[in-house]
Amino acid sequence: MKSSLKAEVWGGAGEHGRSCYYVEHQDMAVLLDCGGKKEAAGVYPLLDKTKVNKITAVFLSHAHEDHGVALPLLYELGYAGDVWTTKATYEQLPYYFKAWKSFVEQRGGTVPYAEETTKEITFRFLEDEAPMGEAISITKDIQVTWGASGHMLGSIWLQLHIAGKNVFYSGDYSPESTLLTVDPPSFPTTPDLAIIDAAYGIDTTSQQDLLNVLQDKVAEVLARKGHVLMPVPVFGRSQELWMMFVKRFPQANIAVEKEIAEGLLYWKRWGNWVREDVLMDNRLMKERMTIVSKDEERRELLMKTPHIIFVPGGMMESKISQWYDKQLRNDERNAVLLTGHAAADTYAATLLKHHHGCEVASFRYKIHQGYFDVRHMLNHLQPHITILAHANKAKTDHLADLLHENGYNGLLSLQPGDCINVS
Ligand SMILES: [Zn+2]
Ligand SMILES: [Zn+2]
Repeated sequence: MKSSLKAEVWGGAGEHGRSCYYVEHQDMAVLLDCGGKKEAAGVYPLLDKTKVNKITAVFLSHAHEDHGVALPLLYELGYAGDVWTTKATYEQLPYYFKAWKSFVEQRGGTVPYAEETTKEITFRFLEDEAPMGEAISITKDIQVTWGASGHMLGSIWLQLHIAGKNVFYSGDYSPESTLLTVDPPSFPTTPDLAIIDAAYGIDTTSQQDLLNVLQDKVAEVLARKGHVLMPVPVFGRSQELWMMFVKRFPQANIAVEKEIAEGLLYWKRWGNWVREDVLMDNRLMKERMTIVSKDEERRELLMKTPHIIFVPGGMMESKISQWYDKQLRNDERNAVLLTGHAAADTYAATLLKHHHGCEVASFRYKIHQGYFDVRHMLNHLQPHITILAHANKAKTDHLADLLHENGYNGLLSLQPGDCINVS
C-alpha cells in the first residue's frame, strides 16, 4: 500500500530556529528549509539519514541562518538533488553562511561540514521557471507555486502539490512590510497541510504601533544630544529603518556602515522584491547618509554632533557593533537600540542584561506573523491541518488554544522530532 501524506518536524516548530520540515507522500518526499539554531555553538535539524535518500527536492524559503545554513549537512548525508529558491536568496546566502561560521567559532565550536560542501549545493531558481503564482513542475508528480512573503529580500511562501495532496508553507511571513512586496497566497484548492509562521504567538500589536514607539525613543535620544546606535542585519530591516528615519527626522545626521550602504545596490538589482514607492525614495536616502568603513572615520563621526548610526549585526555579534558599543557606553546620553531577536548568549542579549553607562533598549519589529496575521491566513487558506511554527512550545500552545476557542480546528503545536500523519 502506498503511504499517505506525512510530515516530520526536523526543527523549527516549538522553537525559534533550525526550520526544517520533511514532507512525504507516496514514494516522494520534499524538504522545506534546513537551518541552524543560535544556541550553544549552533544546533542543527534532526536530519534523518535513512530518509535523506527519499528526498526528491529541497525548497529554501529565504536566506536567514535559521532556514539555510544546515543545507551542506544534507549534502554530506547523501542528498544529491537541487535546492529550489530565488536568485535574491542565493545572492545573500554566502553572507549568512559566513555569519553562521563566525557565530559558531566565537563560541568555541566548529561548523560540522566542510566549507567546500557549501559550494556543492546545486541551486535552481524558481523565477527562471515561472513568475509568482504560476505552477512549476519539479517532477511529474510534484508542482510548486511561489510568492513573495514580505519577510526579507527574496523570501517566499510555497504551495506544493505532491501527487494529489496540497501543502502550503508560509516560510517566514510578514504582511505589513513597508519595504518589501508581498503576494498574498491564494489557491484554488484547500491545503491538506499548512505550516505557518506563528512566531509572535498571541501578540496582536501592529507593525505601525511598534515603529512609533521606536521613533519616539530615537527622538528622545537625539533631543538629549546622544548618538543612536542601530545594530541591524545587513539587508532588509536596516534599509527599511534607514528610510523611515530619513523621513521622520529630516534634520538628523545619519551614518551608515559600508556593508549596509551596499545593501542598496541589491535593491536596484532585485527591484521586483521592493515596493515601488520605496524605490522612488531611494534617492533621498543616498543624499542624507554618511558612509563609514574605517576606524578613523568612525572616531571622527562620534566626535561630531549626534548621529543615528546603522551597524551590521542585529545581535551585535559583529566586531564593528561591539567596537561602537565600547565607544558609546560611557556617555549616558547615547543609546543602543536593538530591534531584533537577541538569541541567548549573544552580545546583544548580554548587553541587555548587564549594560553600564548608556541606555540599551530592545524594540520589537515585525517580520513574522502575530495573532491576527495567523487568523487572516487561516481564514484565507482554510487548511485541514495546520502546524503553527517558529515559536517556543508554551507560546505555540497558548496560540493554538486561543485559536481553538475562536472556532479554528486542526491546529497543531509540535516539537522537533514530532511526526504526523495528515491523511
Ligand atoms: Zn527569517
Ligand atoms: Zn526564521
